[in-house]
Amino acid sequence: MITVLAGGVGAAKFLRGLVDVVDVADVTVIGNTGDDEVFFGLHVSPDLDTVVYTLADVVDPEKGWGIAGDTYAMLEQAKAIGQDTWFLLGDRDIATHLLRTRLLREGASLSDATAAVASAYSVTCRLLPMTDDRVRTMVSTDDGEISFQEYFVKRRQQDDVRDLRFDGAEAARPAPGVIDAIADAEAVIVAPSNPLVSIGPILAVPGVRQALADTAAPVAAISPIIGGRALKGPADRMLTSLGHEASATGVARLYADFLDVLVIDQEDAGLAGEVGALSVRAHVTDTIMRDAASRRALAEATLQAIR
Ligand code: GDP
Repeated sequence: MITVLAGGVGAAKFLRGLVDVVDVADVTVIGNTGDDEVFFGLHVSPDLDTVVYTLADVVDPEKGWGIAGDTYAMLEQAKAIGQDTWFLLGDRDIATHLLRTRLLREGASLSDATAAVASAYSVTCRLLPMTDDRVRTMVSTDDGEISFQEYFVKRRQQDDVRDLRFDGAEAARPAPGVIDAIADAEAVIVAPSNPLVSIGPILAVPGVRQALADTAAPVAAISPIIGGRALKGPADRMLTSLGHEASATGVARLYADFLDVLVIDQEDAGLAGEVGALSVRAHVTDTIMRDAASRRALAEATLQAIR
């Protein structure tokens, strides 16, 4: 079993490459649910859905999330009747949230609802939410504390992030299977996702970080930071404003207590020594996933680095 800790788009692209080179049935994904939010009464799990849509090959290839060719009739009508519509929900996408929400209302756990959504899209890897409990990523800005989706979508990541808090994490328990998936894995991979707001919430669930440190499996991560910048999104600015270094070295430092190997981009080959000084082996390769071939190549290079 290969276990992957995953955020949204970056992780989903990596997973799409991974299932091209290993048996999809051998892959377990532990997904971030700190971004989950309720809109129009529907439970939305953006990161889990991005993984499902990407593995099901229905994802919008331009955006990297949502369903290709989706329409927005529901949102237009919601706006026409005076509702808040800053969070984009496509008409087809809503079918997923309706399914999840119905199951949760009927008493299913988020784990069961997530498995049902994956199965509905014929996704055959094991997809686990990090927890069945409610954990919400909260972002402190100069205007006060706001939810992650308000920061990310409504305010378009324009605020300087002063602090992060994973509300509910202290009392949360890892979802069934999460700790075993780390302990019993042949290899654990931390996907190229924002280390603070996509991987951070998973690490904040009690027991997860310790399981990563304790597992006999090699643990590798792919740096989402290349040449000091995020390929997309606010990871670089967020690292800096929270006092970390926006570089592959900064990523290695955040994961050093459990990481064996950090896959870094060839552009960052010069950082291999710094990363090595943290007792993390740097593996240098092309880490930019432009297309199917480069996604597959990154998955292969990552597996090679840990085997
Ligand atoms: P989301 O995609 O916004 O949900 O956030 P993620 O947590 O998945 O992470 C986005 C991060 O993935 C950013 O920091 C990007 O730099 C990184 N990323 C996206 N695509 C790639 C890629 O092709 N290669 C690498 N190394 N990182 C990537």
